[in-house]
Amino acid sequence: NLDIHRREPCLFKQSYYLSDRLGKGAFAEVRVAINRVTGKRYAAKIIKRIEQADKRKKLDDNFQVETSILSRVRYPSIVMVHGVFRERDYLYLVLDLAPDGELFDEIVKREFLAEDDARRVLLQLLLAIRHLNRLGIVHRDIKLENILLADRHNLRIKLADFGLAKIVGETMFMKTVCGTPMYVAPEVLTVRQMGMYDNLVDMWSLGVVLYICLCGYPPFSEEASPPPMRDQIIAGIYNFPSPYWDTVSSEGIDLVCQMLQVDPKNRINVDDALAHPWLRARRTGGLWTI
Ligand code: ADP
Ligand code: MG
Repeated sequence: NLDIHRREPCLFKQSYYLSDRLGKGAFAEVRVAINRVTGKRYAAKIIKRIEQADKRKKLDDNFQVETSILSRVRYPSIVMVHGVFRERDYLYLVLDLAPDGELFDEIVKREFLAEDDARRVLLQLLLAIRHLNRLGIVHRDIKLENILLADRHNLRIKLADFGLAKIVGETMFMKTVCGTPMYVAPEVLTVRQMGMYDNLVDMWSLGVVLYICLCGYPPFSEEASPPPMRDQIIAGIYNFPSPYWDTVSSEGIDLVCQMLQVDPKNRINVDDALAHPWLRARRTGGLWTI
């Protein structure tokens, strides 16, 4: 029971000691945590509970949401929770350690990924998203900084940072059982639709990730020509400039296009993406057993 630790002071430090810093986000610092008994290494996401009551409450609530969502998930390409500690001054979330850092840095190092490598990364991400969808979870913050590497050589990834994740399945379900169909409010019906669209937001982000993997730069940015990035995104203005895209297969480009559809109704869903010719190509040999 993870909540056993709730009221105990400094229980985290009794079980783990902290080592190198792995990264830093807006509110959290992430460090290697070593279990004092087993010597096993984990990543601890540490949040300082600031004095100011309203901000403190917000941090506590966000931590609660992230923790409870991530605790439900057990999947090879998603970081797993090993412990939760709530202390007077700090909150700790103990996770699988992804020792090889962010996919972001790996792509910077390699400039871009060869198509087979990009395919391998995308396949793991699609399987993760499909698993989340089945649990009614939308990640909502998929980006290269939140895709971590368990092994950089064969690109084994772990999806991390559920700080913005949301459960859509549950509210949909509750609204369905609470209302008698004849009396049900229109927004309940649209919630259903939005729920469906909601998990397609992850597919859009994955499209941006795939684009960057294949060429090494983002499809939408402020640096690109005139329209501000917001307008580029809303209008779906992006392209596949030469020479960067010359060697990418037409199936790869087609999948990017299908993921970066502005209207979610036209956007490819996770099952269709998994069945897309680009992902079916070369899925042979032990390399693809994940
Ligand atoms: P935030 O919600 O503040 O963005 P994240 O959960 O994204 O926090 O963590 C911030 C950074 O810490 C990540 O981008 C990554 O570099 C590092 N990090 C987070 N979790 C792990 C982990 N399980 N293993 C290794 N590094 C991690
Ligand atoms: Mg993050």
